[in-house]
Amino acid sequence: MPLILDGNRIRDDIKSELKPRVEALAAQGAPPGLAVVLVGNSPASEIYVRNKIKACHDLGIYSDSITPPGTISTEELLATVRDLNQRPDLDGILVQLPLPRQVDTKRILEAVTPAKDADGIHPCNVGRLVAGLPGPRACTPAGILEVLRRYQIPVAGKRAVVVGRSDIVGKPVALLLLHEHATVTICHSRTTDLAAVCREADILVVAMGKAAMITGDFIRPGATVIDVGMNRIDSRDEVARIFRNSPEKLASFDRRGSVLVGDVHPLDVVEKAAAYTPVPGGVGPLTIAMLMVNTVAAAERRAGVC
Ligand code: NDP
Repeated sequence: MPLILDGNRIRDDIKSELKPRVEALAAQGAPPGLAVVLVGNSPASEIYVRNKIKACHDLGIYSDSITPPGTISTEELLATVRDLNQRPDLDGILVQLPLPRQVDTKRILEAVTPAKDADGIHPCNVGRLVAGLPGPRACTPAGILEVLRRYQIPVAGKRAVVVGRSDIVGKPVALLLLHEHATVTICHSRTTDLAAVCREADILVVAMGKAAMITGDFIRPGATVIDVGMNRIDSRDEVARIFRNSPEKLASFDRRGSVLVGDVHPLDVVEKAAAYTPVPGGVGPLTIAMLMVNTVAAAERRAGVC
């Protein structure tokens, strides 16, 4: 049986490590603070934001949620972000994506002052990542590196293949792996013979948003497989097909009306990989944990601790 890389356990470890750091900052009268900006009312975004606020609460991080209406203009949202930049009680600002169509997302993300960029996606911080300089890193990619580090999976000298080239996952995780001395290939929708490229990977990271597309013939036997995908399947037939009529999964579907599936085939990965992140319970829990890490690190810089 392959090793299951347990994201919930790592999330709990990270939170335990952060707690004394938060307490030390609070004792100095400078508790960390995070603002979460949620525009409009998308149910999915509301769940993400609620989980982020809860994580702050659990750790003793001050949080403020700002909820402008979905009709807000770019100029109005820029003014909101500039106000948050000025607030001394905030170390991190997170603008929940996606933003409504009328808002210029790039301008909003660029308006967040880089020192408070808790999501690690400001162009200045992306530049620091490229240059190998310290700074907040994008949360999901940073979480993936934590998984590899904490499970002592060797990266230096290994072949890493990243499927997906988004600004928030694919590109930054490829750079982080490169800085750890992996030989990295980035794949995307125009890659020719994706399966053959993936089969070269000692470490396969998949972030494409295509349910269970990475089947056994994409996976080199003994590879480490990191599945970032989160796809909600709401067709019973599709659940039956992917899970080969597993009675447990069908019962779970019947209870909840949907099942969460990664981009990697959940049964094939067990047969081929030496280690893998399950969905759910793999990469997912680490994204919020790393948001907390970025917020606490920003607060420590402000307080002159590091
Ligand atoms: P994007 O949609 O921004 O990017 C998807 C990438 O996959 C693109 O680069 C695209 O290529 C590539 N791709 C799509 N189809 C194919 C294909 N058939 N063959 C090869 N490449 C393909 O997605 P994100 O990076 O934002 O997210 C990816 C997945 O990860 C989603 O399921 C998302 O829900 C999940 N996610 C999970 C997080 C977590 O906390 N666990 C956090 C963030 C995302 P191209 O560029 O050519 O279009």
